[in-house]
Order: sequence, then C-alpha cells, then structure tokens
Amino acid sequence: MENLVLEPEILKLGKEAEQEIQTITSQIEEVSFYNHQKVLQAFQAAQVSDYHLKPGSGYGYDDLGRDKLEEVYCRIFKTEAALVRGQIVSGTHALALCLFGLLRPGDELLSVQGGLYDTLATMIGLRENGMGTLKDWGVSYREIKPGADGYPDPELIRQAIKPQTKMVTLQRSRGYSLRPSLELAKMQEIIQVIRSCKEDIVIMVDNCYGEFVEKLEPTEIGADLMAGSLMKNPGGGLIPSGGYVVGKEKYVQMAAARWTAPGIGGEVGPAPEFIRLMYQGLFMAPQIVAGALQGAVFTARLLEKMGFKAYPAYDQKRTDIIQSLVLDKAENLIAFCQGIQAASPIDSHVRPIPDPMPGYADPIIMAAGTFIQGATLEMSADAPLREPFAVYLQGGLSPHYAKLAVLNAASFLYRYLANKG
Ligand SMILES: *Cc1c(COP(=O)(O)O)cnc(C)c1O
Repeated sequence: MENLVLEPEILKLGKEAEQEIQTITSQIEEVSFYNHQKVLQAFQAAQVSDYHLKPGSGYGYDDLGRDKLEEVYCRIFKTEAALVRGQIVSGTHALALCLFGLLRPGDELLSVQGGLYDTLATMIGLRENGMGTLKDWGVSYREIKPGADGYPDPELIRQAIKPQTKMVTLQRSRGYSLRPSLELAKMQEIIQVIRSCKEDIVIMVDNCYGEFVEKLEPTEIGADLMAGSLMKNPGGGLIPSGGYVVGKEKYVQMAAARWTAPGIGGEVGPAPEFIRLMYQGLFMAPQIVAGALQGAVFTARLLEKMGFKAYPAYDQKRTDIIQSLVLDKAENLIAFCQGIQAASPIDSHVRPIPDPMPGYADPIIMAAGTFIQGATLEMSADAPLREPFAVYLQGGLSPHYAKLAVLNAASFLYRYLANKG
C-alpha cells in the first residue's frame, strides 16, 4: 500500500498556490522573528541556567526548574503569575482550573461569542450533569449570540452583563465552528466594552491555538486570566504533556488551589522528567507556529483552487493556526482525513474512521500521525460528522511536511471524486 501518492494535477495546483501566497509567507516570517526575539529575551532576563533543565522529585517544594519556567512565562505573557505544569493533562484541564477555581455558587459565567468549545460545554453542564459540572455546583451559564459579522456584539454585551455575572469567557480560536477567530485588535475592543460595564469582572481567555500567531497576547491587552495546552502552540511540538494558566496573581492562585488543594496550590508538583523539553519547546514555538501557519495558508489556497470554501480564506488575517475547509459531504471529509493520516511519519499505514469521543457531541474522524499522542501542533485534522461537513486542520512540524500532507489529502480527495464519476 502506497501512502504518499501525489497526483500530478494536484502538484500543479500546489505550485500555483505556492506562488500566490508568497507575500503572506513573508509576513508570517516577520511575526515569527519578532516573537522569537520576545521569547529569547524572556529566557535571558530570567537568567535560565543549565541546572534549571533538571527534573525534581517528590513534593517538589522550591523546585528551581519549575519556578524559573513559570517566571519565563510571566515575562513572555506579561503577567503577574503563571502555573505551567506537566501534570495539567490538557487544555480542557487548564480551563477547568480557571472556571472551578474562581466561580462560586450563585455566580454566572457569560459567553459573548455563542456556543463554547465542545469540552467546555460539557464541563459547564450543558449536556449531562451529576459528575460535578459547574451547573451541579450552582454556577449558571448564559451565552449571547455573536453579531451578524460573527464577532461579539457590543450592544448585546452591555445588556447582558448583570450583577451576578462574575466572569466572561472569550475564545480566541474558532474551535470546531466556522465563526471567525477573535483576532487581538477585535478582542481588545470587546474587552474594553466588557470592562466598561463592570470594573471587577473577570475576563478569561481560552488561548488554545493562539500563542505566537500575532505579536501580542490577550494578557497584554486586558485579559485577567488565560489558559492553554502545551500539546499545542507553546509546546513547540516537543512537550509531551501539560497545560498552563497565566494572569493576575490572585486568580492564578485560585486556579492553583483547585489544581491541588486549597492551602497547597502551586507550591507542590515537581518539575517532570521532560522539564528540558518544556523550555526547549517554548523556545522553538514561534518558529514551529510560523511553519504551521504557512501550511494553513497553503492549504486554504490549494483547496480554494479545487473549488471548496476555506475559513479563513487564504488571505484573511489570522490569530490561530486552525484552518477549516468546508468539504460538503461526509465521504469527502473521510477521504481528506485519511490522506492526512497516510502522509504522517507515524501510523501512516492505518486509516482513521469516525468514532464517538469523550466530551464531544457528534462522532469525529481524527487524523493524527503524531510523535506525541493527540498533539495538535503536529499535523492533524479533525472533523465532527455534522453539517456543514467541515474539517479542521492544524499544525505541521515543518512547513514542507505540512504541504506534503495537504497535497496528499487533496490527492486522496481528488481520486475519491474522480472514481465516483
Ligand atoms: C484544544 C482546545 C481546547 C481544549 O484543549 P484539549 O487539550 O484538547 O483539552 C479548548 N478550547 C479550544 C478553543 C481548543 O482549541
């Protein structure tokens, strides 16, 4: 079985696409250069040394490597505090620490962008309860629809914020939806609107997939608290496990108290065996994110040329690494995802099929031939089998690999459509 079989017709379209995206490619390089400098300066200002790269053990009291890494995060994200741990198991876990750590019975959580990412909807209690969801704890949730342009609507926000509204959650990336991502210039306007309604409201940002795509981060433009996954952008493709929370000191402490126990918080938890990779992955992240972005822009252009719709379009402004493509039919999604999987360095010989996933409402087909299980800064494609049959593609450890994988997926799709007659 041949796994990487690129159709001449697709290669030709790919060459054209490559030409057409050149200006955008150099803009991405420019942001990457800026962010690399920012990260490098944070390492230097924190005086990271060889002995910080060593693992700890036991309770991890005064663990030097762990504490230093959190200082580096504070410097990069311009925050008072950080909780950056290999023992946080995912982005969802990091976000749960923020929600359960800060919200109390009677409080209300508000989303101003419509529905939340699937796993958050589950933990809030929108699907089923009894397992300790926010709803079980007496924390209520409300969402307001975005405006006609897909962005949060300032007027609706002003009407929606009530005395019991303790926290507003903002999602930077599109997640599994076709609404636009919330780029930082827009996010800043929305944060100002929210803040003008209620000075002490907590503004939390789900920063998953957003780190290092723009020159600024949400905590630099007024967000109080922010969380993400180390298997995504800040891991640089190297960190095997972990998540982070950064923000105002008091809020990060509350999240940390939920992570371990009140009174203990982030004081415990040794640096894991892979602590060196937590530094090295962060250091590499701006470069790897830039490669993933270049792959995404190429993907958008190539699939547009094949007659499909890409969100964002290849030349639209980006604030996350997700590229969605509307492929119109379940069979097209399956062919495309199987082509991504077949192009992978790991498990290229297996063919993914749709299956139910914990925390998600519909069956999902997931292609990911990754070195780190489920890591989505590595090339991966997910598609919930529901209208409008969109696939969400992200990552790629190098721009060349990202392009090879997408050319292969497009070739799988091309052959499926051709054989169907
Ligand atoms: C990935 C993601 C999450 C959850 O992260 P996991 O690591 O998959 O648990 C939450 N929100 C958004 C927008 C994401 O993309």
